[in-house]
Formats: sequence, C-alpha cells, structure tokens
Amino acid sequence: MDRPRITIFDTTLRDGEQSPGCSMNVQEKLRLAQQLDRLGVDAIEAGFPIASDGDFEAVQGIAASLRRPIVAGLARACNGDVARAWQALQGAARPRIHVFLATSDIHLKYKLRITRDQCLEQAREAVRHAKSLCADVEFSPEDATRTEVAFLCQVVEAVIAAGATTVNIPDTVGYSMPEEYGNLIRTLREKVEGIDRVTISTHCHNDLGLAVANSLAGVQQGARQVECTINGIGERAGNASLEEIVMAMRVRPDRYDYETAVASEHLYSASQMLAEITRVPVQPNKAITGRNAFAHEAGIHQDGMLKNPLTYEIMTPQSVGVPDSRLVLGKHSGRHALALRCEQLGHQFERRELDEIYRRFVVLADRIKKVQDSHLLELIQDVSSGIVSSSDLAGRQGKKFPPAAATLPFQRAVSAAAGANSNSNDSHPAQISGSAGQASVSIPLPDHHSEQEDYLWGV
Ligand SMILES: [Zn+2]
Repeated sequence: MDRPRITIFDTTLRDGEQSPGCSMNVQEKLRLAQQLDRLGVDAIEAGFPIASDGDFEAVQGIAASLRRPIVAGLARACNGDVARAWQALQGAARPRIHVFLATSDIHLKYKLRITRDQCLEQAREAVRHAKSLCADVEFSPEDATRTEVAFLCQVVEAVIAAGATTVNIPDTVGYSMPEEYGNLIRTLREKVEGIDRVTISTHCHNDLGLAVANSLAGVQQGARQVECTINGIGERAGNASLEEIVMAMRVRPDRYDYETAVASEHLYSASQMLAEITRVPVQPNKAITGRNAFAHEAGIHQDGMLKNPLTYEIMTPQSVGVPDSRLVLGKHSGRHALALRCEQLGHQFERRELDEIYRRFVVLADRIKKVQDSHLLELIQDVSSGIVSSSDLAGRQGKKFPPAAATLPFQRAVSAAAGANSNSNDSHPAQISGSAGQASVSIPLPDHHSEQEDYLWGV
C-alpha cells in the first residue's frame, strides 16, 4: 500500500514574514520562492495581497513565475480581500485563495465584535465568493484551538458546503498540547459532514515549543497538509519548522509513515538563504539546519563518530544538504565544485556571475591554502556589491545577488554558521578579502520595509 502523502504548505513568505524583523522586499521574496520550488514544497503562500502593494506584487510575481507549486494568497473573510487576492493570483498556474476568519469567542467578542451567527454567515459567504472565482479554496478558522468544538464543527461544515477544498486548523496562539491537537483533528473527522471531501491541514505556532509535535499529532489523526516555514520563522515564537517536519517523517518512518515531495538535500541552502535575506541568523542549536546540528565536540562523541557515525548520528549532514567539510576548496578546485558550494550556501549564479566569482576565487586560493565557506561568502558579497555599485540598480532586476546593503549583519550570521564544520582557525575573512575599496561593510542599512513591520494580521 502507498504511504499517505503529506502536502507541504510553506508559509515562510506570509506568516514567516510577519515575524519581527523578517520582512522581505519583492525581489527577495521571488528569490526565496524559487528556492522553495527547488525544495519541492507543494504549496507556497506568497503573501497577503490586500496588506500592501509590496505584498500584492510579490504574490503576482511568484504566481507568474512558478508553474509547479500551488500559489496561495491570503484574504480576510470579506469581498475586498478575496477580490484583491484573486487579482494577484491571475497569472498563477495553480492558484489558491486562502480565506480566514476568527471563530473563538474571545476573538469574536473583542476583536471582530460579531456574534457566532454572524461569524458563521461571514465565513460561508466569503468562501462562496472565493469559490466563484477559484476552484481551490482554503479556509482557516483563526484561533481554532480555543474555539468551542461544537461551534468549530459547525463552521467547518458550513465552509465545506460552501466549496472549501482545504480546511486548515490553526493553533494561532500556540496553546495546544500534542494529544489535544490530535484529538481535535480526530473529532472534526468524526463529527463534520463532508470532511472526507476536503484536505485537513495543520497550522501550529511554537509558543510552547510544540509546533512540530502538534503538527505531527495532527497528521497522525488524519491531517494531510502541514503548514510550516523555513527555520520555523513566524509570528512570535514562530511556526512549525518545515525542515523538522520533513526530517521527522524521513528519519522515523516506523512512527510516521508518510511521504512528502521535499528534496531534503536542499533544506540547508533554503535555511541559509532565508537567514541571509532576512539577516536573522539561525539559532545555533536549531534542529536540522543550525550550525551545531551536526557538530560533535565531546571527545567520547568524536571517538564514536570516527569508529562509526551511526553511534551519534541519526541522519547524515549530506541528507539535508549541509556542505561536506571534507570537500576542501583550493586553487585546484574547478568551477563545478565552486558552483556546488555556492549553491549549498544558498547562492545560485548565472554563468557570467559565476565566471567573475571563479576568477576572484582563483586569485584568493593562490594566496591562502584553503578557501573556507566564510571566505567564499565574503567573496560573493564583494562581487555582489561591486556589481551593484558600478552599474544601474534598475538594470539588476531579477539578478540573484542580494542587495549590497544586506552585507554586514548577514556576514556576521553566516560567517559563524559557515565555520561550523571546518577548522576555522584560518585568517578572518575580512583580512583576506579582495580590495578594500570594494569592502561592503561601510554601506548603511536601508530602512527595510518599515511600512510592513507593524503589520500583524493572520492566522
Ligand atoms: Zn500563523
């Protein structure tokens, strides 16, 4: 029998972007969306089109450029939001409108100031409207885990009747316990008429550190879509971490016998790319993608690892794309090895860009014996800022280099991360990087999307 297939719905660009300090501009979102596509996620929530023109453009751009994954746009349960989301999704090969409305009494009473009956009617109407535009409609009863179960069942039944194809059950405030969340999913499956016609989805927040555990408990009770983010970013303590969900299923099929389409060897580069774009470093002990996730320092561990990696390693670094530190980049390394390492660090280059990086790499490798990841990142940034400063910025639309101004905090974050698997006693990258004139450290940071910083809606 085939293993059940779990839809991975990535919301890094929507819920993730709502986390403080993680807002991204349109170009950055496009770049990350391409990486998510490479990673093999099934659905990408690209933004909240009515929230800002930037969000609208990002959804529109991603919808137009990615053909394989579902591209979703978020909308509150009202005509204007739904229409705007649909407008942004016009170019999508596989559009989805994601409608949400809070259903817990505390949200109804204090936030929305509507009755349960009004809530029910509004949800039904919004889904009906969305369905008249788009075949694929997802509905989220916000704060579902604090909603009275009987009322939640009523709302879910109503939106299914109105045409919803996915019903997402958000633990908006990260309050649930795994058993409790699993029971809720089971109850919905038992009590809601028509539930078998739709996909049940999880959306768990990590306020008590249980987002991944809750999502997996939901899957065990029949949820077949998991909403998650790269590095677990998201509102407050974040969302369920995509890499942890995927690898839990891959490493423990004896307990979680489910399949995802994620190409796990791209997990590390996706994590690195997000850290670079947002300038929010990955927590060192972060499972799967943190710089210590595969580091072994204790002597007894190192001894065991040398004798047999299985003594302390439940998955290989390679399986999640952590660069093999034994692959030394030096002056004899070829363009291919260089391109591969760049890719592992979250940078994909066109031929012309790679040529320039390679040229500088050879010069550098001639001066030092071993080119560490930190050196390489420094070099990439130098080339990037050199190009940006010497040519028309507008002409660089669509280029894959990060903006020059992104350099300094990123450099701190990733230099540390890059040293994780190497003997990083070599000279500091700043001391060996190319000409001082191109050093990017003095460029001031721009006011990074401040108009979106206060924008904190969503499920
Ligand atoms: Zn959320």
